[in-house]
Amino acid sequence: MFIDISDIKKSYGAGENRVEVLKGISFGVEKGEFCVLLGPSGSGKSTLLKALCRLLEPASGAVYLDSKDINKMSTEEVARTLAVMAQSANAPGGTTVEELVCYGRMPYRRFFDGLNQEDRLAIEEALEFTELGPLRTRLVHTLSGGERQRAWLAMALAQKPKLLLLDEPTTYLDVHHQLELMELVVRLHREMGLTVIMVLHDLNHAARYSERLIALKKGTIMADGPTDEVFTQSVIEELYDVKAVIMRVEANGTQYPVCFPYSVEEHD
Ligand code: ADP
Ligand code: MG
Repeated sequence: MFIDISDIKKSYGAGENRVEVLKGISFGVEKGEFCVLLGPSGSGKSTLLKALCRLLEPASGAVYLDSKDINKMSTEEVARTLAVMAQSANAPGGTTVEELVCYGRMPYRRFFDGLNQEDRLAIEEALEFTELGPLRTRLVHTLSGGERQRAWLAMALAQKPKLLLLDEPTTYLDVHHQLELMELVVRLHREMGLTVIMVLHDLNHAARYSERLIALKKGTIMADGPTDEVFTQSVIEELYDVKAVIMRVEANGTQYPVCFPYSVEEHD
């Protein structure tokens, strides 16, 4: 197992205000899988992603990367294994696209060392893959939403990770740029063999692009399996407390499942 998540628990707050956000999460991910995490807001998706990349220490449980306890790995080793694209990140003011992508090489460099040939190659590849070459000298905060997400993805790529974690990377993008980013992640998965764990808001993107869906509700896994087995009316209705229909639509000769939630409904 490439990633082994074992009984992760996490609470926020103390005393009466203590809320258990992850109630013992366990699952494994094989190399090369494309998993999407689904679930309502507040179900613990971002918290789980943070525990996976050691941005947050769980109260109990462990995460193993290639059989190594993530808490016993060096920061550099973790960063050479996985890269994260957070939900909303701000680059420090005055940072250019190229500088941002350079940060991705930090885990490979010694303090004060300049960029070597390998660093430069990784940076160029990342800029090329995300088609950001022409924008390399632009300040990150002047980019459009779609360009900015590509710049963060380029930084993650320059890190040469084996695992890519993404937290709702398409949320603030229009449909064109949502599709563009999804296609880019799919190509990374297919062409570079990256393992992907991605939180998505958009059910239809989740259904279309993932191979496996993990549904999180109130800090527990409600369903986990191949996308066509999890993306069903009953799972979606229970997961989000809605009534919904799932249809099949045909576009460009391919059939896609599409979910249409049409009313709210409380489940116990
Ligand atoms: P999701 O990403 O699924 O929307 P989160 O993991 O962000 O869920 O949050 C799960 C719950 O934990 C929410 O109720 C949220 O308010 C709470 N929470 C998240 N981060 C913190 C924090 N730093 N301090 C206190 N509560 C938090
Ligand atoms: Mg979140």
